[in-house]
Amino acid sequence: MSEPVFHVPVTRPWMDEREAEAACRPLLTGWVTQGPEVAAFERKFAEYVGAAHACAVANCTAALHLALLVVGVRPGDEVITVSHSFIATANSIRYCGATPVFVDIQPETFNIDPALIEAAITERTRAILCVHQVGMPCDLAAISAIARRYRLPVVEDAACASGSEIFWNGRWERIGRPHGDIACFSFHPRKLLTTGDGGMLTTNDPNLDGQFRRWRQHSMSVSDTVRHGAREVMFESYLELGYNYRMTDIQAAVGREQLKRLPEIVARRRELAQRYCQLLAGIPGLGLPLEPEWARTNWQSFIVRLPPHCNQRQVMQHMLDAGVSTRRGIMCAHREPAYRKETWSCSRGPDGCGCAPGMCDRLAESERAQDTCIILPLYHQLTEAEQEYVVEQLGGAFRLR
Ligand SMILES: *Cc1c(COP(=O)(O)O)cnc(C)c1O
Repeated sequence: MSEPVFHVPVTRPWMDEREAEAACRPLLTGWVTQGPEVAAFERKFAEYVGAAHACAVANCTAALHLALLVVGVRPGDEVITVSHSFIATANSIRYCGATPVFVDIQPETFNIDPALIEAAITERTRAILCVHQVGMPCDLAAISAIARRYRLPVVEDAACASGSEIFWNGRWERIGRPHGDIACFSFHPRKLLTTGDGGMLTTNDPNLDGQFRRWRQHSMSVSDTVRHGAREVMFESYLELGYNYRMTDIQAAVGREQLKRLPEIVARRRELAQRYCQLLAGIPGLGLPLEPEWARTNWQSFIVRLPPHCNQRQVMQHMLDAGVSTRRGIMCAHREPAYRKETWSCSRGPDGCGCAPGMCDRLAESERAQDTCIILPLYHQLTEAEQEYVVEQLGGAFRLR
């Protein structure tokens, strides 16, 4: 086999000497965690999304766990969410001792289908955890209307959605303002803005924010900054069971630089995504992603749907042989061993739903999306020539039978 013309990864972070220099700042001052860089990153992030408060944590999984605890999710409760998401979404519910109740997705947007939420609500439902999958805003207007009717808090899994926007009350607003009660972000390298690992909680409620800050730091009664600056001796106490979910100042310093780049990253991705749509329109039968008119995604991932005659694995292998990395559609938690073996099964709370393990009639669109979609390379530095090469290879894979 000849050497591929290009080697195209699925994703690649965009960082350089600016981040490297920023990472050195806390190292040289000696204040390396939960210090001034974290505070500055929080302020800037809150400002960027338009939230009153932002609280930095170790990763988005930790953020989701804290968010669910703070809105009162406890053992025995149910939380409505999607199976069609990275496993951290459903896991965060189980960390609280609660049961995820999975609702199917809309095939066009890969997001929770609001029309199916009401039927999943029971007396045990304590919250709705909705996901902006791969950065595409979910239908928050419809979700919040249901949540208000049932007095349920809404937590947004905005792990992928830094820089995405939603049309809200007559204007465009950034995801994370938030439009539910709390939004949770990830800064893993698979997302647009990265600090290696890292997460952020945004809210407009000072009480929720105060609780995040205590719980991320073992429920310590006094913060490090306050104790450090105190002129009198201070003894802290530990008010309840807390966690170590801190972000370091090294990560936060990198995050501040990344945040400055974010508008440019989003703009470039939107340009590349539009170009993908034009180039891919020529492949008959290929399903292209849909952006609702009230949404502006950051295109964290570009997902295409293969027609029925295509074998997903074969297409991906053909592309890999040509030097192009792809990923299959987003996973479904209910099909994983960690979920299949639970007595509450794939969905519908403690009774399970009686489907065969790893298959659920109620989650047919979620399963179909995992099995028939592939994620194409999309990142800031992707060149036009590389993008055309990706499209060419996908077209070639289509001619395989
Ligand atoms: C990445 C991701 C997470 C987890 O984020 P971490 O920062 O890695 O903990 C959660 N939910 C979704 C939808 C994600 O894509």
